This record gives sequence, structure tokens and C-alpha cells, in this order.
Amino acid sequence: MKKINFLIYLWIIIFTMTSYQGEKKNKKQPTPNIIVFLVDDMGWQDTSLPFWDKVTPFNKRYHTPNMERLAKEGMKFTQAYATPVCTPTRVSLMTGMNAARHRVTNWTSAKDKLRKTEKNHKTLIIPQWNMNGLSPVAGHPHAVYATPLPKLLQKAGYYTIHVGKAHFGARGTIGANPLNIGFDVNIGGTGAGQPGSYLGTENYGNGIKKREHWAVPNMEEYYGKDIFLTEALTREAIKAMDTAVSHKEPFFLYMAHYAVHTPIMADQRFIKKYTEMGLDPIEAKYASLIEGMDKSLGDIMDYLQKRDLDKNTIILFMSDNGGLSAVARGGKPHTHNKPLSSGKGSVHEGGIREPMIVKWPGKVKPQTVTDQKVIIEDFYPTILKMAGIKKVKTVQKIDGISFIPILKGKKTDPERALFWHFPNKWGPTGPGIGASSTVRKGDWKLIYYHNDESFELFNIKNDIGEHQNLAKSNPKKLKELAKILSEYLVKVNAQMPVHRNTGKKVLLPINSLKKA
Ligand code: CA
Repeated sequence: MKKINFLIYLWIIIFTMTSYQGEKKNKKQPTPNIIVFLVDDMGWQDTSLPFWDKVTPFNKRYHTPNMERLAKEGMKFTQAYATPVCTPTRVSLMTGMNAARHRVTNWTSAKDKLRKTEKNHKTLIIPQWNMNGLSPVAGHPHAVYATPLPKLLQKAGYYTIHVGKAHFGARGTIGANPLNIGFDVNIGGTGAGQPGSYLGTENYGNGIKKREHWAVPNMEEYYGKDIFLTEALTREAIKAMDTAVSHKEPFFLYMAHYAVHTPIMADQRFIKKYTEMGLDPIEAKYASLIEGMDKSLGDIMDYLQKRDLDKNTIILFMSDNGGLSAVARGGKPHTHNKPLSSGKGSVHEGGIREPMIVKWPGKVKPQTVTDQKVIIEDFYPTILKMAGIKKVKTVQKIDGISFIPILKGKKTDPERALFWHFPNKWGPTGPGIGASSTVRKGDWKLIYYHNDESFELFNIKNDIGEHQNLAKSNPKKLKELAKILSEYLVKVNAQMPVHRNTGKKVLLPINSLKKA
């Protein structure tokens, strides 16, 4: 009897083991859905979620409960970088290239034309950068030919959804239309970098003569209705995800809000509490734009939960450049990203450091924080890996590095150098704003200004506000970083402006140093 019992016992063990293995074999990890939630012009401090080691007055001003919720479910990046303005960031995200290499170094507008501010630059001749933006096909002048991210995802079976602001290419170019770069659906994206209006009652700028240029297309369903653009785009994004689900396809949602870019308009659903706080009227409107964006994030997270998609959907939250601070804001300019210096358009931290959060169920430990540095071109190889796309053929050389090891809690090279290159003119002036090349390595950051070939050297760890320029007091570090930056600019064949008065090209940082 004992023997029989033992045999039955053994049989049970063997049976469960083999059936477990069989189950393991058949249970292929399903392809994850991927959402890039990209906010426009949102600053590092424009949130109630602290990204610094201290809670700031701005963290107390703004209300972003859904960013807090996302951070609880994923990893918060305290040193995530983008470029100082819109299009270079968006092209880097879509191509994996650094701006110095793709040469879409400024924001795109009209086809084949330098903007007046660049053409009429008083002291510099601005190079003929890729002012037409991104092109998915070869042979287009002043455009970077590359294999765009959505095209690869589409090929791999993803239903690719574009919602909101595109701004990958100048008006009337091939890259201006998201459908040309691999998106199956386009809701609201054009060559425009801002909306004509956030108000449904103003048809989002359609039919308004002065704003026609920026009118948001394909939103007729909402015309004349009291529905804020952020809300309308969210509803359309949810509809598009539903379509993917009904087709049983994984989806890639590029949820690129127009918020919180100018025109700074009040989102009436949220404005009251900010007005009652006694904020400057423009700042109250700005805060309402932020909270409206955050509600969109919450609605999308709720939708995923309701449809039981949340466990298989990755969310990457990011902004495309620092918070606007040089113009159009209430209060003192260049102070809206404090403790960071300056804002949009600047290579000071206020212009390039972004609020970033990544949720990846089952892979990223919830409620984790990293101070490891990442830059916008890193999204491209990361997303491809997340999607399980292994053999990638691209026409461009990829500069970005996957940050999946960081997401998995591994330590990566803290001395990896990050680069910015902006041989352009943005518009307004201010700290860190102007034609420049920049490197961040370890705790240090060197900025080289093309106009007067001068330097700023900061220790970011000790001086996050970039108050103390150490270029004169630390010549050793200055030289070390000038060399690294120069070698990089040569390696990627970066464009440099020419001095108008001498007709000579702006020197490489290291040569300018030798001259001095
Ligand atoms: Ca922007």
C-alpha cells in the first residue's frame, strides 16, 4: 500500500512538472502596447511630483496627481534630457540620432527657408541646417533621411497612432504628415508647432484668419463644443486604442499633447483653484493647462485598467524641452523652472532637463527613482527593444543607447558624455540661449557659445542652478571637456556658423581655447 501511495505521489509530481513546463513553453510573452506620452514645453518643476531632492514652491503650486500615480507604478528619472526646442527633440525621438548629426537643429516652419531671425542674425551667418525636418525617403533637400521609429513598429505588426502635435517637418514637406513616417492614424498632427486655439468653441483655430496657420486638423466632431483640445485629443486617443484592441493588434500610441505650449489659454475645468490661489492670471492659466494634461494621463491609465490592458502596456512620460520662461509668462523671465536656470531655448538645465517617468509592468520595479542620465535619442533603441524588434535595419546611424538596463535597476556608465548642438537662433534671449555646443559628462557641463567663442563650465551636482561659471578657475576640466566636445563635433560633421564680420567659421572649442 505504501508503495502504491509512493508511485501515485511520484506520478503526480512528474505530471505537474511536465504540464508546468508545457505551459511555460506555450505561454509566449504577449507583445506589449507602448504609449509615449509627450508633453510640449513642460518644465522639470511644472508638477506636484518632485524631481529634485527637495519639494519646491512649484511642486506645491501645480496639481498632477496622475503623474504621481504613474511614478508610484514605475521609475522616475531625475536627470532626463531633451534638446532646448521642439523639432530637434521630436526628430531625435523618431530617428535615434543626436541633433548634431541629424542637423534639424532648430524648430521647423516654412519649407526651404531660414526664418527671418536667422537670416538677419547680426553677427553670425547661420548654416543651412535641415530646415525641412525629417524625411522617410531619400533625396529631399534640407531634410534628414532616416528610418522613422513608427515605420519599424508598423512593420512589426503594431497599430501606430499619432495624436496631437507632430512638428517633425516644415509645412508642405513629406515629413510634416505623420502618415508618411509610419503612423496608421493621424489625429491633429501637422507641420505646426502650436494649436490655433485650445477651444472647441473656436474650432481649434480653424476658420479664424489670424490663426489658420496653426489650426488643428480633423477635429470637426468637436467644432463649436465647449471641449478643450487636451480633452478632445484624449477621447480620440482612446477611440483609436479601442480600434487596435478590436483588431487584436498591439498598439503604439504617440500621445503628443499640444499642451502646455502657447497660446497660454485657461482650461476652465481647472482654472478656479489657481485663480483663488492669487496667482498671476497668466500663471493661473498655465497651471490649468498642466492639470488638464495630467487628467489626460489619468484618463488613459483608467482606460487601460478598465480594458484590462494595464498589465501589458508600457507608458513613457516625457517633455520635449524645458518650460517656457523667456517670454509670454507671468512674473520675472527665466525664473519659471527654479531651481534650474532659464528655460525653453536655453542649454542651461531649465531648457533641457525634463520630467520623465517610465512604467513597464513586470519589468520596472514600482516606485523607483534613478539619477542616471538619459537623453531623448535613447528612446528610439529602447522602444524597439521593448517591442521585441531585434534585427533592425535603419538608413541612419543610431546615437541613442537603450536605457532598459537602467529600468532593470542596473548601473550604467556615469561618465557617458551627452551632447547638444544648436548653431541657430531661437528667438528671445536669456541665460544659456544662443548658438552653442554643449557637453555633459559626469557632474560637469561645458557650454561653448559660438558668437563670442566663450565658455561656461558648471559642476551640475554642486550647482544645479548654474550660478558659478568655473571656466576660469578650472582650466584643466575646461580643456578636457573642450577636447571631448570638439572631437564629437568633428566625428558627426556638425555644422558651424560663420562670423559675419570676418567670414571665418566659428572655431572648434579646443582651437578657440588654444587661441586664447
Ligand atoms: Ca516644445
